[in-house]
Amino acid sequence: FTAEQYRDGLLVVEEEADRLARQIQDLLDVSRLAAGGMRLDLSEWELLPLAEEVVAGFAAQTDSGFEFQLRIEEHMPPVRADYERARMVLTNLVSNAVKYSPEGGVIRIGARAEGDYAIVYVSDQGIGIPPEDQERIFERFYRVDNRLRRTTQGAGLGLYLARSIVEAHGGRMWVESQVGKGSRFFFTLPLGRRQLVADPQ
Ligand code: ATP
Ligand code: MG
Repeated sequence: FTAEQYRDGLLVVEEEADRLARQIQDLLDVSRLAAGGMRLDLSEWELLPLAEEVVAGFAAQTDSGFEFQLRIEEHMPPVRADYERARMVLTNLVSNAVKYSPEGGVIRIGARAEGDYAIVYVSDQGIGIPPEDQERIFERFYRVDNRLRRTTQGAGLGLYLARSIVEAHGGRMWVESQVGKGSRFFFTLPLGRRQLVADPQ
């Protein structure tokens, strides 16, 4: 083997190790959930920096076939949520958007305020999800039976975890999708209380 072949081989090993570590983390989270809920570390923070952080991570590791866009409403109030958990949710959704868009395309993260909640979405122009699978994909270990099922890695835990985290915050998660056109995953998180307190002085 040449030095270059060794290096390429090691990179593959490193990537696989990272993937397995993530999968173990997911499994631990699932068992923790099953064992009785999760404790949230709540604080108030802005969505835009989180979205920027997540996108920066993916922009660095995906090829140029993707364009990442941010559409966070201006003057968006902060959310009150567990930052690390919310980062997992967004990372899971963007990772799916990349994984299930073999032709690349635009991946957009958007958010707006509605009532007491922020509505956040991640959209892609990938393979889409048939109507009969659109609820089942949130089940543990469920993966859609399509041509990407064999060639993409996954345990079918990402969305189950993401929805569990969102629901632990009192939010909801759902998907709108058309086969061959793309998918848009939505979730809600409670807005911070700050903006609701009227200042009488
Ligand atoms: P894991 O997230 O555990 O690594 P996974 O990606 O297969 O594995 P989920 O994230 O829970 O698991 O997704 C479940 C299934 O839903 C996927 O296997 C895929 O079939 C489908 N799916 C999820 N996101 C998308 C998407 N953006 N476009 C098309 N199909 C999707
Ligand atoms: Mg996934």
